[in-house]
Order: sequence, then C-alpha cells, then structure tokens
Amino acid sequence: MAMTRVRFAPSPTGFFHIGSARTALFNWLYARHSGGSFILRIEDTDAARNTEQALTVLIDGMRWLGLDWDEGPESGGEYGPYFQSERRAIHDAYIDRLREVDRIYEKDGALWFRLEGERHTVYDDFRKKEVEKVRSAPIVIEDAVRGRVEKELDEDFVIVRASGDPVFHFVNVVDDITMGITHVIRGEDHLSNTPKHAALFDALGAPRPVFAHIPLILKSDGPGKMSKRDRGALIEEYQRRHFLPAAVRNYLCLLGWSPKDDREKMAPEELIERFDLDGINRGNARFDEQKLVHLNGAYLRELPLETYAWMARPVLHDAGIVDDETPEDDVQSVLEICRGKVNLLEDLPGYADYFFRDDYAFDSAAEKRVFKKGDPLADLERVYRTLEKLDDFSAESLERTFAGLAESAGVKPFAYFPVTRFAVSGRAGGPDFYAMLRVLGKERTLGRIRRVLKERKGS
Ligand code: GLU
Repeated sequence: MAMTRVRFAPSPTGFFHIGSARTALFNWLYARHSGGSFILRIEDTDAARNTEQALTVLIDGMRWLGLDWDEGPESGGEYGPYFQSERRAIHDAYIDRLREVDRIYEKDGALWFRLEGERHTVYDDFRKKEVEKVRSAPIVIEDAVRGRVEKELDEDFVIVRASGDPVFHFVNVVDDITMGITHVIRGEDHLSNTPKHAALFDALGAPRPVFAHIPLILKSDGPGKMSKRDRGALIEEYQRRHFLPAAVRNYLCLLGWSPKDDREKMAPEELIERFDLDGINRGNARFDEQKLVHLNGAYLRELPLETYAWMARPVLHDAGIVDDETPEDDVQSVLEICRGKVNLLEDLPGYADYFFRDDYAFDSAAEKRVFKKGDPLADLERVYRTLEKLDDFSAESLERTFAGLAESAGVKPFAYFPVTRFAVSGRAGGPDFYAMLRVLGKERTLGRIRRVLKERKGS
C-alpha cells in the first residue's frame, strides 16, 4: 500500500483556532500512527488576509503543541513549494489538463468546470433567470467518519474567477493531487465542498484520497460552534496562560475522538498507537474547559519538582511575587507543598503569594468564619506561646506539638487550624497545615501571629 501522506492546510488568518489545531493534531496523529508523512501546506492565496504575522501565530502554535511536520515551510520537501501562492504554475498546468479533456469553458470572463451529465435549462426563481442544470450521476463519497455521503451536483462551477484567481476548490484539489495526499482529514464544515472536490479528482483522472470529516467543536454552553471570540477558542490563549502543551494536546485529542475504553489521560506514544480514523466520533464535540483544566493539573503534578519550578518561576515573577534574588530553594519548597492543589500555573500567584510577602490580603469571608464563635484570639495566643518554645519546625514536630496543646485543652488539634491559618496566610484554605508552617518557618509564623494578636487585641 502507498505510504500515507496527510496534510494540514490552514489559511492563515492571524489566529490559531482550537478547531484548526485539532485538525492539525488528528492529521499528525494519523501520520505518526501509520508511519506516513505529515505535510504542512499554507493556503495563502487570499493575499489580503495573509501576513507574515499570521503565519508566525500558526507556526508557533504548531511547535508549541509539538506537531512537527515532515514537509512544509522551513523544513522543505520534495513536493514543494508548500505555500499555495507559489504553486501558480502547477495550478495552470492543471487548468490545461482540464481543457484537454474538455471539462472547462469560459463564460463572463471566468473559467467554469463542466459537469458531466444531461443538460437542460430551467428558470431559477431565486435568481430570476434561466440557468443551465445538469442531471448528473450522484457523487458518492465513502467518508471514513460520516459513512456514505451522496450528493447530486447540478450546476457547473467557476474554477478561475474573472480576476484570474483560481478558486479554493480547484487549488485545494490540485495541491492534494500533486502532493500525493492519501487522506484528507478536515473539519466537517468542508463536507459540503467535498462532492465538488471529488468531481475534480475524477475529471483530472486522479484517485480520490480517503476523506475523513471530523465533527465540529461546540461552545461549552449553547448550540453554536466555538467562535474565535469564545473563551478558550484560540491556542494563543493557552500559550499566554501557561497551560502545558502536553495537556492541551491530550485534551484536543478527546474533542471528537475517543479510545474504546474511554480513557482520558494518555501519553503521546499511547495516543499515537491508539489513534485511528474509526475512533473519530460522528457527533459534535463540546468544549469543556474544566476537563482541560483537570488534565493540565494532572500533567503538572507529574513534572519533576525542578521542572515544575522552572515553569512556575516566570509566572510568579510576572505577578511580582518573586524576583531574581529569591532563592531557588525557597521557591521549590513552596511549590512542593502547593502544587497538589493547583491545576493551572496562572493560579499559583494567588494561591501561594503569602509565602513570599508579608503584606498578604486578609480574606473577609474567611475572617467571618474564623471569628464566628468561641474565643479564637485566646486560642491563637495559646498557639503563639507554644510555638515560641518550639525549635524544631518540622511537620512531625509541629504535629506532636499541636497534639499536646490540644490534649491539655481537651480539644482536637484541628480546632486551632482555622485561626492560625488565617493569621499566617489571610485565608481559610491552602496547603497542608503543618507543611505550611514548616515552610513559613518559626520566625515568620510567630511574627505574623503576633501582628494579628496585636491588631485585634491591642495587646
Ligand atoms: N484552507 C482550508 C481551510 O483552512 C483547507 C481545507 C482542507 O483541509 O481541505 O479550511
């Protein structure tokens, strides 16, 4: 069997939409799965929309997602050029071929593709004029995802506009033929174009590729398809928000494809091994940010601490929480105890800022809860006096100390947690209590408790 050749053929618009990224990914996975080639072809014939910057967004996004292409811009290949705008001579040669087989004619300055079939003239109520209809055999497509699709084409169509520009359908097909594409995996929005494409392949005497139209991605709420204005619709957003590319890639796989056992988190090798066209769903996929956020958290927690810190540090830095002087050990010991609770790097500054600054905010809802009943300040004072005498601030020693304190007061140790946590962090939740005190250390813990006691009791 011929070697699999698939392509991702974006028209650069300045955005890398999640739907396009998913199309790129499915093509990439299929190429890697079948040991074939993945080709990046830039469909840049609409000059008005195609800028250097638009291309950069796309290429950066592809690289970020780890979707390397075997042929295309920058990597080259034997089937180039890989910019559609540079393939004009090839397109012209294929116009000539159509002319040779008498499937092309000129009308109103444009070049038309002639369908085969029985012709007759009818009055078109909508356009208010007589038009030629063709009674042609239905075009039948065995789509690898949609199954059998049948459509009767009934009108010739333009392939080169009066302006001299060839239309999308024609150049798309010619490029697929001349690049030896074996499988066209693309969004379902192109399904309606496919009969025209099939007719062109047939007329040019080229074997049709296998078509696989992948389902749309619907926005998280409501019936519509994700548009670039929806949150989460652009790959740039995930890059900016410090998502892990591996998590985004894993999530994109699940948008319209699923392995038979419904597993979700899968390593790249496993995805490559299991990905196949028959696992692509027919039904539309729905974008679910929570699922992506959870996957991101799972991927984050798997990183070695050093790697995690290397990724987190710039995020903390940009939030003004650490600077170049902050010792790496300090950063790592905070991250070590916080990472289990944080699914997104962008949430870290808000979660862990009080480890790095003394002017942390006091949450008023937490405050209300803490001071609702009993005498929390008296408890806090007791904690203070006990910790003052403690030199070993390891988690075990702290645990023992709170156990002793609680026992002598006839309460449970966690009775002391809320007010203590509130005093040293300004909030109600956070990492493990003893780990938090250990990382803050004796001096800061006592300093913060003393400050709260002083402000509240004036003592
Ligand atoms: N340039 C087209 C697009 O971005 C390509 C369609 C196709 O994959 O054939 O939608």
